[in-house]
Amino acid sequence: MARESDGSAADIPVLAEKRKSQISVLVVTLDVEADMKTIFLLDVDTQRDFMLPGGALYVPGAERIIPKLRRLFDFARKNEVSILSSTDAHVPNDPEFKDFPPHCVRGTEGQRKIDETLLRRPLTIENKPADRNWIETVQKHQQIIVQKQSLDLFTNPAVDKLIRALPPHAFVFGVTTEYCVKLAALGLRKAGVKTVVIGDAIAALGLESGQKAIEEMRRAGADFITTDTLMGVLSA
Ligand SMILES: [Zn+2]
Repeated sequence: MARESDGSAADIPVLAEKRKSQISVLVVTLDVEADMKTIFLLDVDTQRDFMLPGGALYVPGAERIIPKLRRLFDFARKNEVSILSSTDAHVPNDPEFKDFPPHCVRGTEGQRKIDETLLRRPLTIENKPADRNWIETVQKHQQIIVQKQSLDLFTNPAVDKLIRALPPHAFVFGVTTEYCVKLAALGLRKAGVKTVVIGDAIAALGLESGQKAIEEMRRAGADFITTDTLMGVLSA
């Protein structure tokens, strides 16, 4: 599957780039072979208002990543891989609505996650100081949904603790590339978590801003992989 190029001097930058991504695939292979329990999925904001045409802050083309999301969740279900999901849970006059049209308001249809990114019996953690014994409760659930009222999921005080309790290797996907996905990946890197973004399971509001965000995530040490490659590696 993943094969090193011959490294000849004729390699142009594009090939060098390709080789780099193959190497990160190899790293993933080693870790995953060691133990499937060393990974978790970070599912960012896959909610109706972002994902579906007609949603309050629809991300153009986002519905095209839904088949990838379905595969990732099927895989997680089968292999008992932990999933951390972030969700916007706004109140009607949240400060964020100065910069974005109102979206994902608590209690609305648009705030709900799409069916493809929901396991049975997820645990939802609101954005407020946590109860004392919550970590024990968390360990009984395969999918944890953390709520937030701004772009960065780390604004929910539970997230720092959750990240420490979860496996050390995160695979990130969802929307939007240039806001919440980027902040999630940068936050994970800051926390020292090995971070791989599933590049064909993210969607951006803008082409250029999305591309810039990808470069920023790379600079912060995030690797990129496709759903196919990841599934291939994990099923090997
Ligand atoms: Zn929001």
